[in-house]
Amino acid sequence: MSARQADCIFCKIIKGDIPSNIIYQDDDVVAFPDINPVTPIHLLIVPRKHIPTITSMTEEETKVIGKMVMAAKKIAKDQGLSEKGYRLTINNGPDAGQIVMHVHMHFMGGRSLVWNH
Ligand code: AMP
Ligand code: ZN
Repeated sequence: MSARQADCIFCKIIKGDIPSNIIYQDDDVVAFPDINPVTPIHLLIVPRKHIPTITSMTEEETKVIGKMVMAAKKIAKDQGLSEKGYRLTINNGPDAGQIVMHVHMHFMGGRSLVWNH
C-alpha cells in the first residue's frame, strides 16, 4: 500500500471521507474499530498526522506515541478493561506485517490472549 498521504485510508477516516465509528478523538489522535477484528474489542489508535512508519518517525513525532498510550488508557477505562488488561501492538514494516502505511496502535482486548510468534 502506498505511503502517500493522498491515498491513505486512515487519513480518509480521520477526515471523515470514509465513514467510521470514531470511538475516541482528541487534538492528536483518533480511534476507531478495526474492520477485521481479531478480539471482541479491536480498535486502532492513530495519530491525526500522517506518519507512514515508526522507522520514518522523527524524534519530535515520537511524542505522539505517548498520546496514543494515554488514549488507550482512557478507552480501556471506558470499555471496562483497565483491570482485565489488553494488548497494544504497533506493526512496523514488512516482517511485522504492516499493511497500512499510517502509524497505528492496535488495541486488542475483551478476551484472554495468548502470545504468538
Ligand atoms: P497492520 O498494518 O498490519 O498493523 O494492520 C492494519 C489493520 O487495519 C488491519 O488489522 C486491518 O483490518 C485494518 N484496516 C484496514 N482497512 C481498514 C478500514 N477501512 N477501517 C478499519 N480498519 C481497517
Ligand atoms: Zn495517513
